[in-house]
Amino acid sequence: MRGHVEKKGDRYYVVVDHGEQPFRSCPTPKCRGGQWTHQAGEISCEKCSAILCAPASRRRRIWHGSWLKKGAASDEMTRLLGNAQRGSYVEPAKLTLSEWVEKRWLPGLSVRESTRHSYARNLRTHALPRLGSVQLQQLTPSDLNTLYRSLGSDGNKGHRMARDCRPGRSATSTRSSAGRSVTLCSRTC
Ligand SMILES: [Zn+2]
Repeated sequence: MRGHVEKKGDRYYVVVDHGEQPFRSCPTPKCRGGQWTHQAGEISCEKCSAILCAPASRRRRIWHGSWLKKGAASDEMTRLLGNAQRGSYVEPAKLTLSEWVEKRWLPGLSVRESTRHSYARNLRTHALPRLGSVQLQQLTPSDLNTLYRSLGSDGNKGHRMARDCRPGRSATSTRSSAGRSVTLCSRTC
């Protein structure tokens, strides 16, 4: 498996090239649905319910990220390709917010146990019931604003959270609809 860093707008992405893979495309015009699988038989399109075409070989590239600094993206690429060699590569789109919060973000936080407990409680009470099933890559800035508010009504905890992520490594910043900057770490830090 190979990879490279690509810039889009002002952000950097890691593109992992998985080579030729069987893809079953959706026959409906303009529907861009489909599934990467070699499985035969009837499979419905997730978007329009049409029966997908037979598998055909297609080059598969998966985008990860994004990061503001090229170095952070390069570090992540090294990690992803290393994982791939060890057989533990995880496709980004498969992780939901709940899975990411529970399995990666909370366990990886370097904060006091009481702080971690408070983040966990607030997220589970306010954000995860609404957003937990959203795939990470589909989260919007306003979704993140909801998350941010759930961590503390005065915003202090949000800032503390941002500081807990080591600067320049992998913090993901986005501007919320209210104009506030929201920072969440994109991996355990
Ligand atoms: Zn479709």
